[in-house]
Amino acid sequence: MDQPGLVVTGASGRMGQTLIRLAQGSDKLRLVACVERAGHPWIGRDVGEAMGGAPIGVKVTDDALEAFAKAQAVIDFTAPAATVEFAALAAQARAVHVIGTTGLEPQHLARIEAAARHATIIRAGNMSLGVNLLVRLTKKVAAALDADWDVEIVEAHHRMKVDAPSGTALMLGQAAAEGRGISLDDARVSGRDGITGARARGSIGFSAIRGGDIVGEHDVIFAGEGERVILRHVATDRAIFARGALRAAVWGQGRKPGQYDMTDVLGI
Ligand code: NAP
Repeated sequence: MDQPGLVVTGASGRMGQTLIRLAQGSDKLRLVACVERAGHPWIGRDVGEAMGGAPIGVKVTDDALEAFAKAQAVIDFTAPAATVEFAALAAQARAVHVIGTTGLEPQHLARIEAAARHATIIRAGNMSLGVNLLVRLTKKVAAALDADWDVEIVEAHHRMKVDAPSGTALMLGQAAAEGRGISLDDARVSGRDGITGARARGSIGFSAIRGGDIVGEHDVIFAGEGERVILRHVATDRAIFARGALRAAVWGQGRKPGQYDMTDVLGI
């Protein structure tokens, strides 16, 4: 049987280009089209050439529905407004939709949930094996330590990142909250500045560093009296996210409609 056809959206982006490079070497998926927004200078061009290399026989289009109709999987690392549109179109085309986009607000999540009634969607704020293991560890450590241990999540990313805290930091915060049996919405404290008062017992703090070309670093700090436990993940190459997304696109083939995450894909 032919390999499932793949469309990459946001083709010219950091993740888009990484995905296209890796997809070319895949023996499990076949890149059939790339999508960019209308008016983008890459529209109509061969994506290999647009990326500064040899042609690969795959065009960049702004017609997402036509592209998705040729595919069994769509990998999407773009922006929230684009991702909700792509979710509806991928559902219409019956293609598995792998969503790496972060910064999704409740109204975006509701539209993704609606699309998942008819489509298989795999969504994760971080697609790497290491971070998904860290999520598991964070939940376990949070469950083992009581609220005398303050939980602080510190993340660092490149200067172009537009959302904070990162999707990964929020996944880690959610895991800590679940481990503690509390709601993250109630416990979350982000970006302290000025006279903040003393730290509230049981809160989960987030701090974001932005600079240079940092791919992504996350520390989950459990700070107790006289000791600290620090769980850390450092990403040095975007390929870890792209490999996870490609694996998710293959895993999703033939699955029942619904929303899944990387712990389902990785079986952890
Ligand atoms: P980026 O370099 O800015 O790339 C985003 C791409 O999406 C750009 O090419 C952008 O085009 C395109 N785009 C935006 N709206 C579009 C639309 N309506 N139609 C088609 N294309 C559209 O960003 P990035 O670093 O690759 O990250 C992208 C997203 O993935 C972010 O939300 C980031 O946080 C997330 N991310 C997730 C993971 C994970 O593992 N889950 C890992 C890394 C990054 P324009 O330049 O024309 O706007």
